[in-house]
Amino acid sequence: MKPIYLDHNATSPSTDAHLSILFNKLKDSIGNPSSPHAKGRNASVCLTEARKAIATSLNADVGEIIFLSGATEANNIATNGVLKNTKVPIESQHVITSSIEHPAIKEPIQFLKNTQNLKVTEIDVSKEGFIQFEDVIKNIKPDTTLITIMAANNEIGTIQPVKLIGDYLHYMRWGVSSSQSDKDSFDLLTSKYLNSNVSKEHLQKLHFHIDAVQAYGKIELDNWLSSGHDSVAISGHKVGSLQGIGALFLRRGRKYLPLILGGAQEKNRRAGTENLPGIISFGLIAKDLYTEQWIKEKNYIINLRDTFLKELSQLSNIELNTPNQMILPNTINFSVQGKKLKGEDLLVELDLQGVCASSGSACSSGANLPSKVILALGKESVLAKNSIRISLSHSNTKEEIEKTISIIKNYLNN
Ligand code: PLP
Repeated sequence: MKPIYLDHNATSPSTDAHLSILFNKLKDSIGNPSSPHAKGRNASVCLTEARKAIATSLNADVGEIIFLSGATEANNIATNGVLKNTKVPIESQHVITSSIEHPAIKEPIQFLKNTQNLKVTEIDVSKEGFIQFEDVIKNIKPDTTLITIMAANNEIGTIQPVKLIGDYLHYMRWGVSSSQSDKDSFDLLTSKYLNSNVSKEHLQKLHFHIDAVQAYGKIELDNWLSSGHDSVAISGHKVGSLQGIGALFLRRGRKYLPLILGGAQEKNRRAGTENLPGIISFGLIAKDLYTEQWIKEKNYIINLRDTFLKELSQLSNIELNTPNQMILPNTINFSVQGKKLKGEDLLVELDLQGVCASSGSACSSGANLPSKVILALGKESVLAKNSIRISLSHSNTKEEIEKTISIIKNYLNN
């Protein structure tokens, strides 16, 4: 029996078609891109092609894309690497982030806070799971060197106002905005909320990072990209490429202290022989993003999600954790509530019947701790412990959704 795979926010497995195209490409191109001979040149061409595809998918220049082992590395660079490059001691720096970031952002920040007294403001989210844009402005201080906010949350799928933050920063730094009404509202917000000791030059230096792992390839760029972000983390395996490959978009002129030293790969920004299979795989996937076909697939996923949500909303003993707007097309999060009901038991039941779903974030599952994201919504610990995440792709079918719903119904009724 083919499993029903509903865990695409953890990893979206490569399709057979992708693997076979990749295999054919790899047969001819394995060599070290740094080698001067034919095999090396071939590998280098593949590397360039993939870099172009990723750059295009992010409206970026090829020189702004750095290949890495994944988004965890990209997020470590955007925190640790960026802060250590400022020449200001860590204890004199202040970072703004949110309470629902992925551990790949939370942990490096926490580490610097614990070991070097980094000052951190964690912005709380509303009970629906959104940060307020104004809270970011209010918290910028003369010592703020980094703002890092995710584009979309991996557990509940809420889309954060990173585009607005970027637009605001771009306007404040360079006086450029797309409309007079944006300018007026940014001016008003500045007079109301921005610390008067924060200068334009300061905002020009401040680094704005977006962890876009869950938004990239799932929602259109204009939902989250602007001209004001300085770096963006993306990951291949969340959009159907091999695992172990990710990239950092780093705006031209921005710098960080490399975390891995060695050879001169990636223009001295990330040493080590490139992961060519991963890079080619990621490039092939990137080429197909944001096309007409992609839009069709996105709409199809939205349809599946809405069917799922409608069915869930009719069940008692279910609490939805995903709000009904500003969410990813593919993500549904709910908790089971009732004396004998447990999220982990439901997950086991789903697994026994061939359905792969997850509880909380994949990285912390295994230990049955309450989900920090659900707790951040202000929900009780028991709901945070019993949360389930369903994340879809266009490979899922209506029949799979129906079967999953019927397993959930049976579990609730027994
Ligand atoms: N950021 C977010 C929002 C994620 O969902 C994940 C993975 O779950 C990561 C970062 C880490 O990505 P990677 O697996 O490429 O290290």
